[in-house]
Amino acid sequence: MIIVKGIILIIDGMAGRPLAELGYKTTLEAAETPNMDKMAENGICGIMDPIKPGIRAGSDTSHISILGYDPYEVYTGRGPFEAAGVGIKVIEGDIAFRCNFSTADDDRIIIDRRAGRIREGTKEIAQLINSIDLNENVEVIFKESTGHRSVLVLRGSGLSDQVSDADPKLDGKKWKKIQSTDNKPESIKTAHILNRVVEESYKLLKNHPINLKRIEDGENPANIILPRGAGAVPHVQPFSEKYGLNAACIAETGLIKGIGKMTGMDIINVEGATGGVDTNLHNITNSILESIKTYDFLLINIDGADEAGHDGNLTEKVEFIEKVDEVIKNISQIQDIYFILTADHSTPISVMDHTGDPVPLVINGPEIRVDDVVSFNERSTYKGGLCRIRGSDIMNILRDLMNKSTKFGA
Ligand SMILES: [Zn+2]
Repeated sequence: MIIVKGIILIIDGMAGRPLAELGYKTTLEAAETPNMDKMAENGICGIMDPIKPGIRAGSDTSHISILGYDPYEVYTGRGPFEAAGVGIKVIEGDIAFRCNFSTADDDRIIIDRRAGRIREGTKEIAQLINSIDLNENVEVIFKESTGHRSVLVLRGSGLSDQVSDADPKLDGKKWKKIQSTDNKPESIKTAHILNRVVEESYKLLKNHPINLKRIEDGENPANIILPRGAGAVPHVQPFSEKYGLNAACIAETGLIKGIGKMTGMDIINVEGATGGVDTNLHNITNSILESIKTYDFLLINIDGADEAGHDGNLTEKVEFIEKVDEVIKNISQIQDIYFILTADHSTPISVMDHTGDPVPLVINGPEIRVDDVVSFNERSTYKGGLCRIRGSDIMNILRDLMNKSTKFGA
């Protein structure tokens, strides 16, 4: 029997380093994870460098690598992936930026980079930005994301992503004039247009009813947008075309949804999937069980462990990993699939950010060469049959198991 269905479940930032507080165990080693351990017992294990040994991967670059794309080629910055993630239909050559709704005072000083952590009304404000007509043969496409976050796309010919940020990164400073970083005509033009967009936003948003109401309520108005992280939308071969697999992405964050979008996957939105430790794992599980009936391949990202890692919250990280273990129990019951469980990078509690340590990995499925590993964590899995691989090996291994890869040579 040939099985052509696969699931890659990525528990964001799940891996870590040994901690003195845990008797030199990692959070994954300390967590009770009977279902992950069962996967290890029934499967083939290894450790994986998402990009290369010692490279501190972002979630985005790691996912790109795991899907078999070269992040050094495809990843031009965060903007394009965020833009795709919020649902803008980006096309090759677009220049995309992440933006903040911020608050500027009359002296053009940014007094609050997050505009009082605005939550409501950003859609209406975004509409106004979309009405900006610069008369420069460049289309301005703008969309709100979650909270104070938003995305800006410039579409037109002769643009470049070699431009600096407007965001001063600190409150109490003037916003920065955007400049070309390579002094080429395309980037000089882009910087000029972008400065006009920022100026226009400052002019237009000041008197928006939502902002007038915010001021009345004693809240900081969202009276300017500050772009950063320019990236040119790259050419990406659709995943389905690359592998002949009809694929969907179940993710919580705009960033990972953006990777699904950019690779042409269908995006399955799950109610209550917040990306935090309070996310609705029950709904995520149901959505996985339902989607695998329709699709050949699912890319799944669950984000809470990474958040706990960034917060340096040991208890939350251990507890969240234990909760995710229940999700794995349910996925393990799906018949006739290859199921890969891993993380996209380590987010050790002690570092509160991503590190380049390898992550554990296990594959379950038919005709697997089961090894002797019986528990799933950073140190047990390196004794497994996969030894140490790279993220870019995963799709090759999966396709080979599915008997879908072409022979190299005679
Ligand atoms: Zn992270």
